Amino acid sequence: MLEISEDVLYDCIIIGGGPAGLTAGLYTARAKLNTLLLEKGTIGGQIAITDLVENYPGFPEGISGKELSLRFKQQAERFGLKVAKAEATKIEKSGKEVFVHLRNGRVLRAKTLIVASGSNPRKLGVPGEDKFLNRGVSYCATCDGALFDGLPIAVIGGGDSATQEALFLTRFGSVVYLIHRRDQLRAQKHLQEKVFSNPKIKFIPNTVVEEICGNEFVEKLILKNTKSGEVSELEVEGVFIFIGLEPNTGFLKDSLKLDEKGYIITDESLRTSLEGVFAAGDCRSGSTGQVAVAVGEGCIAGIQAEKYIEDNF
Ligand code: NAP
Repeated sequence: MLEISEDVLYDCIIIGGGPAGLTAGLYTARAKLNTLLLEKGTIGGQIAITDLVENYPGFPEGISGKELSLRFKQQAERFGLKVAKAEATKIEKSGKEVFVHLRNGRVLRAKTLIVASGSNPRKLGVPGEDKFLNRGVSYCATCDGALFDGLPIAVIGGGDSATQEALFLTRFGSVVYLIHRRDQLRAQKHLQEKVFSNPKIKFIPNTVVEEICGNEFVEKLILKNTKSGEVSELEVEGVFIFIGLEPNTGFLKDSLKLDEKGYIITDESLRTSLEGVFAAGDCRSGSTGQVAVAVGEGCIAGIQAEKYIEDNF
């Protein structure tokens, strides 16, 4: 495990080890900036729990999200990026330096900071969701799908994540119910076509989950039809919730300007409201949730950080 030092004034600290952060690190490390990347969880972020990435250029057959994440990391480390497991809890600026407070009480210093803290799965907020977490309720199909081999599974949501992960879960489930609150899926057409032609997926439109029920583990869902108001029960053992993402920016609310949904506001050079602090990827207002975009933004942030140091130090 890498030793991080409070005595060093880092050229650049990056918060977040997803595609945006790792690409920013590739650029700053190649520019010979002493760069430290902090990641509190899994390297790769949301992409690391994605089974197959089919729309990142350069991989005609697709590539697993985990494999892609590790390649991003290896490439950046080859040029000197330092990666440490740590959670940032607050940032502040004093003079020319940016201070990053960590969960363990330590405070790191840097000339520039790139925030690439990504996003977390949104919760449904229904009874049973917290109680049955890891007892049938999951937000990660690649992590937990195999636990439901031969068993009925429900997937909640209608976007790219819900459809893509429903397809993946057909490897395991005896049946995969795709439950969506409207009659139209929001997902890309290519994914919709795959879903509707897969005999294992049963689409349940215009339906919301009212409650997740069971004893020790999930046994059934209470569903409500949004058109007729009819309430019904559905027996399932796995419930995978993919109803969107929320930005991981709670620790920045007192230091950076955020939009009404909590995403970081930047200009076209990815500068935030605090001088010397840049933001890239899914935590940024206007993000598209695409790996290719996160990578591009990481590149811009890395170049801008280098330029900022040239101009100010
Ligand atoms: P998303 O695109 O925001 O879709 C969220 C889905 O959940 C929507 O269908 C929404 O319904 C539904 N929903 C939201 N709140 C709900 C609630 N409280 N109860 C029930 N349903 C609810 O989120 P995502 O699918 O996680 O994708 C996030 C981003 O990552 C997107 O930009 C997406 O394009 C990207 N992504 C891309 C790929 C890919 O390119 N292959 C794969 C995965 C994710 P409505 O439709 O009614 O709003």
